[in-house]
Amino acid sequence: MKFVHITGGPRRALAAALACAALLVALAAGCGSQKQVPATVNTFASVGRTIRSGLGLTEDGMVIDNRLITYKQGSLRGVLPAVEPAVVSRGNKDLKRVAITIDDGWNPDMRIMKLFKDEHVPFTAFVIGGRGVAESHPQFVKAMADAGGEVCSHTMSHYVMRGKSEDFVMNELWGCQRIITNVTHVVFPYVRYSGGAYDKPALDWAGREGYWVVNWTIDTRDSTANPQVDAQVNGTLAGLTNGAIILCHWGGHNTYDVLRRIIPEIRKRGYELTNLTGLFEGTPYLLKGTATSGGKKTGK
Ligand SMILES: [Zn+2]
Repeated sequence: MKFVHITGGPRRALAAALACAALLVALAAGCGSQKQVPATVNTFASVGRTIRSGLGLTEDGMVIDNRLITYKQGSLRGVLPAVEPAVVSRGNKDLKRVAITIDDGWNPDMRIMKLFKDEHVPFTAFVIGGRGVAESHPQFVKAMADAGGEVCSHTMSHYVMRGKSEDFVMNELWGCQRIITNVTHVVFPYVRYSGGAYDKPALDWAGREGYWVVNWTIDTRDSTANPQVDAQVNGTLAGLTNGAIILCHWGGHNTYDVLRRIIPEIRKRGYELTNLTGLFEGTPYLLKGTATSGGKKTGK
């Protein structure tokens, strides 16, 4: 058995225990101060071990609401159950929901983070592991998670994952995941390759490792040269449809101004803003839909 599912009473007890652990960590880290969060939060790990042994959890962790929560240190490879390889560019078409996904992390515009928090906008972030992003700025990863973001792997190097060796792609996937999870203690079953590009081996390897490759439905065009805010806003709104995945970037062109305008308008048009977990409700692309006891199973 790779990990356990927690439901009902034990789940509530666990949620309380996790909240307690988070509080202890916050206190240990200097709550409210500007102190940097270390790359590996050892305090959390030791608290986690205590909770884990008390609840009889496995080393790999447990699944709660599409999250694998783990206190595992080092390589995380093998913690996710294998899935059928798939590139997902849209969520559930029967639900009037859209999701904002926000990528990279170079030169992040922190007004966006404040906007998400102030407007209670769920989001999913695909963050780069290396290249001066997550590894160098664990506090940025923590800020995303604290703002309610689902923080997912966008590979270590942001190189195009075509024609690469298996070892190279494994290091890209799991290296980035390890850096994120050292801070968040959470693994989501999603990866986005640079530029949305991949080849068949890279897609197959992602599935085998338990990741769906998530691309997008609507591009805000904030990574193109000299975009105009009005055109970006109008183009994004014109593409709205049930289950749409919107692409933007922490350091994109006009991203803050575009989001500031589209968020209220999306809601006004009757769409619920959600994260990928919410967008994929009723689809196979959820961890809780695939993970069972008895070892690795493919997605269903
Ligand atoms: Zn990117």
